[in-house]
Amino acid sequence: MTDTHHLFSTYSCCAGNLKVKIADGTLSPVAGKWSIRISESITLNPVLHVPNLSCNLLSITQLTKKSNCSTKFLPSHCVFHDLSSGKMINSAKEHEGLYYLDKTDDSELLLWHKRMGHPSFQYLRHLFPSLCSNKASWDFQCEVCELAKHHQASFPKSKYKPSISFTLIHSDLWGSSCTPNRTHKKWFITFIDDHARLCWVYLLTDKTKVQSIFMNFHSMIQTQFHTKIQILCTDNGTEYFNHS
Ligand SMILES: [Zn+2]
Repeated sequence: MTDTHHLFSTYSCCAGNLKVKIADGTLSPVAGKWSIRISESITLNPVLHVPNLSCNLLSITQLTKKSNCSTKFLPSHCVFHDLSSGKMINSAKEHEGLYYLDKTDDSELLLWHKRMGHPSFQYLRHLFPSLCSNKASWDFQCEVCELAKHHQASFPKSKYKPSISFTLIHSDLWGSSCTPNRTHKKWFITFIDDHARLCWVYLLTDKTKVQSIFMNFHSMIQTQFHTKIQILCTDNGTEYFNHS
């Protein structure tokens, strides 16, 4: 809700006598409603235009639901992050007990940042003090810089279904190492139980031993644990396919 008409990017007058109850208990008429664009990523809709209001009111639940974002309130500021990309989409500075949304336009500073080959914010502040006034380093975000500093993308969400011990065994073969170990083995094979994450490692002199090692492992599960392997999951390496 706001009392400021010129903030609206789209606007329509409210017919009838729609009223809202404000803090002092009185009813205030709603003059109009529609949308306000507060940043590149956030458009508030619907916003009520209430001329008798003495300050702007922002509903955090409306904002987080409609813009699919999270908010984090810190002593000096608060930040809004897009839930799907994790990108910071807006921020607000604390001043005398209230958080003030940052509506400054970053486009010119970002343009210079790109032109100059993505220098740090400290360097930009030194070069363009007027564009960086009233700005903290956490205010300034460049997507390219953030992605370029990532070492790896996050793992996709796993559709893991809990298993029972030994129903699913993951296996892989590694080698050959250019340096053999003391017993002249250059390969190793792993069997990992999906449920317990227990891992068995066997050393091999060459790939042809995979068959006998697997048969031993298979017998060991049957005799020691009185159960059977139901699924053997591999990368379809040829070492797992043979007549036996
Ligand atoms: Zn950058």
